[in-house]
Amino acid sequence: MVQLYIATAAMCLAAVLFLESLAPLHPAEVPLRRWAHNAALSVLSVGTVLATPLLFWAAAGALGLRPGAGWLARWGLPDWGQWGLTFIVMDGLAYALHRLSHAVPWLWRLHAVHHSDVQLDATTTHRHHPLESAFTTAATVPVLVLLGPPMLAVLAYSGVALAVSTLSHGNLRLPAALDRWLRPWVVTPAYHRLHHSAHQPQTDSNYATVLPLFDHLLRSAGTVPGDAGRQLTMGLPSRRDASSQTVWALLRAPFRG
Ligand SMILES: [Zn+2]
Repeated sequence: MVQLYIATAAMCLAAVLFLESLAPLHPAEVPLRRWAHNAALSVLSVGTVLATPLLFWAAAGALGLRPGAGWLARWGLPDWGQWGLTFIVMDGLAYALHRLSHAVPWLWRLHAVHHSDVQLDATTTHRHHPLESAFTTAATVPVLVLLGPPMLAVLAYSGVALAVSTLSHGNLRLPAALDRWLRPWVVTPAYHRLHHSAHQPQTDSNYATVLPLFDHLLRSAGTVPGDAGRQLTMGLPSRRDASSQTVWALLRAPFRG
């Protein structure tokens, strides 16, 4: 399973980097130093990301839960209902944790590492502080244990979320009509770009991972500019200098004033 996750992440990254080279929103460049910093944070965080399904599996085993023995099974849902609800619950939880990460100061200190990237591309997807990844895992596993979803549904959602996240962080210029058509149903690069804007009211919008539905239901959807965010400044105003972008500075950032 670990190999499957790493292979999926690598394939998504390679595919989106290839698409970025074909249709970049901003002129294609190879920011090797930035990529190296993002890659280092990705390696440090990936262990905790991988831990979510593994811990769920281990906890279910330790508690003697048979596959499909949680709430979903008690409600007598058919397979397709269990898969659909698993998808909705996991995406809703991702939305809730993301929104919480912008609202609670100590969570924002961790999440700000992700937002401090001064450019946006596929490598930003995995740029997270390891403690943020640990928090996400710690919050997600108990919900999965209570829900008791089919393991394959958890893996399927994780794969879809990985693909959509990598694509939505991409330095990509989708045809405007295609982006507008997709935007109500799935998070697109233009939709998520607004969330990485350095302007705080825009940063505090568009929290969705896969389904923009949650932003629309909970009134956190922002207005995507007509130029797909080409003119927006990415990152955080206070962390633009090179010294705040090193791996060591990013790891220490949540603990500094
Ligand atoms: Zn965010």
